[in-house]
This record gives sequence, structure tokens and C-alpha cells, in this order.
Amino acid sequence: MIRHLLSGADLDAATATQILDTAAEMATVAGREVKKLPALRGRTVVNLFYEDSTRTRISFEAAAKRLSADVINFSAKGSSVAKGESLKDTALTLQAMGADAVVVRHPASGAPHRLANWVDGSVVNAGDGTHEHPTQALLDAYTMRSRLGRIAGLHVAVVGDVLHSRVARSNVLLLSTLGAKVTLVGPPTLIPVDIPQALAPGTDVSYDLDTVLPGVDVVMMLRVQRERMNDSYFPSAREYARRYGLDGPRMRRLPEHAIVMHPGPMNRGMEITPEVADSPRSTIVEQVANGVSVRMAVLYLLLGGNNR
Ligand code: ASP
Repeated sequence: MIRHLLSGADLDAATATQILDTAAEMATVAGREVKKLPALRGRTVVNLFYEDSTRTRISFEAAAKRLSADVINFSAKGSSVAKGESLKDTALTLQAMGADAVVVRHPASGAPHRLANWVDGSVVNAGDGTHEHPTQALLDAYTMRSRLGRIAGLHVAVVGDVLHSRVARSNVLLLSTLGAKVTLVGPPTLIPVDIPQALAPGTDVSYDLDTVLPGVDVVMMLRVQRERMNDSYFPSAREYARRYGLDGPRMRRLPEHAIVMHPGPMNRGMEITPEVADSPRSTIVEQVANGVSVRMAVLYLLLGGNNR
């Protein structure tokens, strides 16, 4: 097993499949009255969040607690980070406290990679800038596999603000490793020209959502990340929704079996309408539930569940 999980590229098909299979076993714990396993008793997991998060932080906390680890939540607000302490000094503090795993979210792309050089424990990237979010890709893959029975051979459209999306990057890497085909869809201003081929050869690009929809098994809508936009990438929210938003009539262009995904948080009415988000094809709530099982599997395997 790998020591850190920093990128979707850290996972070969066998390791990714091992994580998904372990997550399926972890999911059975969620159905029990006592949702706890003793696997990580006495181990310490630190959640180090320099950027806002709802789902991911809670999910990692629930995952670590269900495995009986001690959990320390550290958010940049209200800590010495607000006083200007550097990431390295914070890392040395965590090291001195004996963290076995550090789950880190940071606005700077590459911050978890730096951290991995400074601590002895395992580092899990919970989202670094616009770069990567590998556990999101794993929970998305898990959701596809549980809804559609497989990943290899699926055609997945990833739609919207690809430029700012760490979810898109990690998904392209992992899905191609697992044998799915990805088409990135969005306005040309939000799909970097070098991205598709640089990440995974075979990744397609389309600027026309309507023509792509009838041929896909999965449509993954991305949030328009206005907080990362310092330029105007499209004329207006209305225009964006008209061309790239998933509404009822567009959803009906999908094949019968196709599913609709979104990592959250959603801009309802912009990239997705409530009719679609709340439809039976939508896996959005399942993705959140699956996130806990997948993160349990990641922590369990990284912290030596099967080799210590
Ligand atoms: N929650 C995801 C992330 O942190 C997706 C998003 O924010 O749009 O990357």
C-alpha cells in the first residue's frame, strides 16, 4: 500500500480497486446500530483545514472516529496560522504531537506534497487549490461502481468549470486508470487546452453539452467556482445555465440508465436545477454517504490496516 494519498495518479488500478473493495466492507458498518470498528484504536488523525469545507471535513472526521482513531480537528481560523505561522512550523508541531495521519486541505496547489516531506505520518490530500482531491474521485468511482456495476468501459462526461476543479483533475486521472472514458464539457474559457492530454491521453473535449448527453453513462456536474475566478469566463450566470446547466429537458436526453453526479456544494439553478438534483437519477446524497466509507478505507489502508 502507498504511504500518502496526494494525487489520483498515486493509485494504480489494483490499489484503487483494493480501496473500493475495502470501502464496500466499511459500508456495512454504517448500517449497524454501533457504527464503530476498533481498527485504528490508539492512532491519531489530524484534520488540518486551511480552506472552508463542510462535507469533506465532517466525512474524514466520521471516518476516523468509526475506526476508533483519536481525531484532532485543526482549522486555520483561530489557530496560530492566523498569526502567520508557516505550514512547515505547523507540520513540525503536528509531528511533535505524534500524528499518524494528517488530512490536509489547503488553498495552495502542492501544499500536501510539501507537508509529506516534513511529517513521518501519512498525508492525505483533502483538496489543494485547483489541483487535486483524490478521495473525492475515489468516492465518485465507488458511487459509479455501486450504481452501474462497473467502471471499465463507462463513458463519463465531466461538465462545467474544469479550469478551477480539483475534482475534475483527480477524476480524469482515476477514471482513466480504471478504464473509463472521460469527455470534458464546458465553455472553452473553462477548459484549459493542455489539460485533457496532459492528464490522461484519450480524454476528449466538447463545447456542446446537448450532443454529448445521449452517449454517456454518467454526467458529473461541477460547481462554478466563483471564489476562484478573478476574470469573467462567461457572459452571465443565465447564459452559462442556458448552455451548460443540467435541467429537466437536458436530463431526458440521457440514456435511461445514466446517473447524474455533483460533488457539492451545488449552485442550484446554475449548473444544475433542483428538478435534476432531487431526481432519482441523482446520486448526490449517496456520494456523501459513500464518502465516509471510502475515507474509512483510505485511512485504514494507509495506516497499515493490512500490513502492521
Ligand atoms: N467540494 C469540492 C471541493 O472542495 C467541490 C467544490 O467545492 O466545488 O473541491
